[in-house]
Amino acid sequence: MTKLAIDGGKRTVPEGAIKPWPPIGQMDRDAVLRVFDNQMLCGAGAPETVALQKEWAEYVGRKHCLATNSGTAALHMALAAAQIGVGDEVIVPAYTFLASASCILHANAIPIFVDIDERTYNIDVSKIEEKITERTKAILPVHLHGLPADLDEILAIAKKHNLIVIEDACQAHGAEYKGKKVGSFGEMAAFSQNSSKNLCGGEGGLFVTDDDTYMMRGDMLRMFGDEIDDETQLRVYNASILGYMYRTQELPAAFTRSQLKRLDENNAIRQKNCAALTEILSGYDWVTTPYVPSDRTHVYWMYIARFDPKKAGVDLSPREFRVALEKALHMEGVLVGQWQIMPVPAQDLFQTKIGHGKGFPWNSKFYDREITYDVADYPVASALCEDYTVIVGTNPPNGSEMLERYAEAIHKVFGDLDTVVKHKDDDIVAHFSGSIFMAA
Ligand SMILES: *Cc1c(COP(=O)(O)O)cnc(C)c1O
Repeated sequence: MTKLAIDGGKRTVPEGAIKPWPPIGQMDRDAVLRVFDNQMLCGAGAPETVALQKEWAEYVGRKHCLATNSGTAALHMALAAAQIGVGDEVIVPAYTFLASASCILHANAIPIFVDIDERTYNIDVSKIEEKITERTKAILPVHLHGLPADLDEILAIAKKHNLIVIEDACQAHGAEYKGKKVGSFGEMAAFSQNSSKNLCGGEGGLFVTDDDTYMMRGDMLRMFGDEIDDETQLRVYNASILGYMYRTQELPAAFTRSQLKRLDENNAIRQKNCAALTEILSGYDWVTTPYVPSDRTHVYWMYIARFDPKKAGVDLSPREFRVALEKALHMEGVLVGQWQIMPVPAQDLFQTKIGHGKGFPWNSKFYDREITYDVADYPVASALCEDYTVIVGTNPPNGSEMLERYAEAIHKVFGDLDTVVKHKDDDIVAHFSGSIFMAA
């Protein structure tokens, strides 16, 4: 047996073997320089921003798109465009990125969390209806890790209860549900171009809708609530609603457009790499690999694996076993670690309920319900946080060469669980944030 790196052996995946995301080429440089040549750096009507909106609306299959400065801004804009606010509730999965829920608070509404599905990690549609009250205005499903949520069921529940659906598609650019792109199902949807995301712009967001009213409101919300004169097309500098400053800039817009040309190609590489990784892991019955229902595609923003100590015959808790495996894999040079470490409602923001300050919006006089966020209400999300890890590096330009090294490292570690367990308390922190996506 080859000695594990954690036990003093040689590291399998050499330093620098994992290439960062996104691949940046000459076409990206040309796109960004074009902005400088045009001497136009920002503006809702600036050429790169306008072109990006048109191209993204066409890509997703929607009538309208507004480019924003973040995915969070696009989500908040969708809630504000639907005039969701004080006294309203919005349903959101208990396991996602914080922004799916904090945007609801930004809109002064109350997030109501629903546990996730055991296999897809998306919102558990069988638990949505029991959370609907007369205050509920919307469902905000998330296409987590790049896998579309159960859209047919969600849309049917929404229709039955007269709710709108706002898709958080920030992790799922290009993913399809029954042959249609995510972002084209709900009344509105939001995407993110944060560096880590499948469509990278550095930072940025994209709001989409087919509805002319939502589009018109979104347009005003994006720019201070200010109106544009119909005749002159100039701002009138008289805000008629409370708006924000959610415009993007020309540099990220131009870069995003350039990256968009390779989105499908890059997603296909991710899918190929992730299929290879699943193949590598398939020999271990104690490892759970991503589940993809046959009616949808997964674009693998992240690859999630779960470990079952009982099935592996290891006498550790799921958390201890997962951490021990992360340490051993990390020492072999495999990038692993968790992104979200707890269900969203377990975060201090929801436990303290200070919100905007002094307890708002939970204590608003227009809200007559006492909400407590009890983590015990989200057992599936909680269990996931014990035993999952993200295996990073499945992004392009990584390919078969890197995966062969991953295979070697994984077989080495998984074939020597005694040594893994022996080193479970070593002073090692497995982490990947900052190393391939962005600076903290
Ligand atoms: C990244 C992300 C967001 C927020 O996007 P930003 O561009 O970072 O504001 C929202 N929801 C989910 C699920 C995300 O992954």
